[in-house]
Amino acid sequence: MTQGIYIQVPFCQSKCTYCNFHTGVVSRDRYLPYAEALCREIETHRSLNNHLDSVGFAHEIRAVASARPLTVDTVYFGGGTPSLLDATLLRKILDSLYRNFSSESMEVTLEADPETITPEKASAWRDAGFNRISLGAQSFNDTELQAAGRMHRRADIFSANTILRDAGFQNISLDLISGLPHQTAETWEESVAQILQMRPEHLSIYMLEIDEGSKLGAESLAGGKRYSAAEIPADDSIADFYDSACARLAAAGYEHYEISNWAAPGMRSRHNSKYWQRKPYLGFGAGAHSFDGEKRWSNLHDSARYVTCIEQGISPREQIETVTSAQALEEELFLGLRQLDGVDLERIEREYDVNLRNRIAPLAEQGFLQLNGAQLRLAPDRLSISNDVFVELLG
Ligand code: SF4
Repeated sequence: MTQGIYIQVPFCQSKCTYCNFHTGVVSRDRYLPYAEALCREIETHRSLNNHLDSVGFAHEIRAVASARPLTVDTVYFGGGTPSLLDATLLRKILDSLYRNFSSESMEVTLEADPETITPEKASAWRDAGFNRISLGAQSFNDTELQAAGRMHRRADIFSANTILRDAGFQNISLDLISGLPHQTAETWEESVAQILQMRPEHLSIYMLEIDEGSKLGAESLAGGKRYSAAEIPADDSIADFYDSACARLAAAGYEHYEISNWAAPGMRSRHNSKYWQRKPYLGFGAGAHSFDGEKRWSNLHDSARYVTCIEQGISPREQIETVTSAQALEEELFLGLRQLDGVDLERIEREYDVNLRNRIAPLAEQGFLQLNGAQLRLAPDRLSISNDVFVELLG
């Protein structure tokens, strides 16, 4: 079976106000040792898997690893802001992957922030083998971008898009966030209009979730004006923004295939689809997660400690767990139902030897879920409250 590879680059130019990821602003001097550690982790991943085996996990991984290189068909560089790294370092990491894995019709994605993109970098990314760029636009309104702590402005998004197209990228994804401070129905409609004008092959829309660990979350709880927490639109407005975008993107010919993701025909994200379909992937880098179909594990989050471990030949892996049947069932529903095609309920009931009809019936009666034959899916007009539906279904 082919699998995906995720490369985590946990560095950013500044900390966005809504962000609660394990990412940090560090000196550029730390980029090279981090990239070298990544290469070393990639090159030694088989012995690291043997380490998992030695603590009682991953016998199958060891068997696979010792037989022949795994075949990889998607690679995703995420973060953080991986486009901060020099193109030569990104290439070094990719070359390390090519040396250690078989590859097959690869989708190779780089997350990039608009202000980090230059013609030289874009061209070097193409030469290195990247064929898909995920561009963190977030908004086309400068007041919203500034309040969110983003480093780019509206003009940078247009310029980045032109540079990427000129460099030959034919698969670009753009992100927007509904619910940023200062966002209004008008500014939201304008952002959606701009994105439609740019005609990316793929786009993602995330509804703002305020986490206590973010600057915005802290200000929401404690009060204050620095991050404009009081200017966050109401939940109903955020849901309306999302619903309005769903209608406009459908009218523009985009296929809504996952709660937060739309694609032009044939341009779904192959890498991210693996997560929703519970397919195996390996993660490299600080805080990266992996899944082999039966076990999940992650690397330690602190990037400095990660580099030290790798330099000293110590495994950076932690939090290794075998997924129980109950957890796997929950994941099948929670991840599978994020896809608008839904899940094959009969297959799930058969594989997990459960009957879910009693749990589903009341939610179907209330119009939250739809069951057509064996196919179970979220009702398309309830996607903006999907989290509530999941709580009811899985609670
Ligand atoms: S660029 Fe992404 S990872 Fe970095 S601070 Fe902003 S939201 Fe967080």
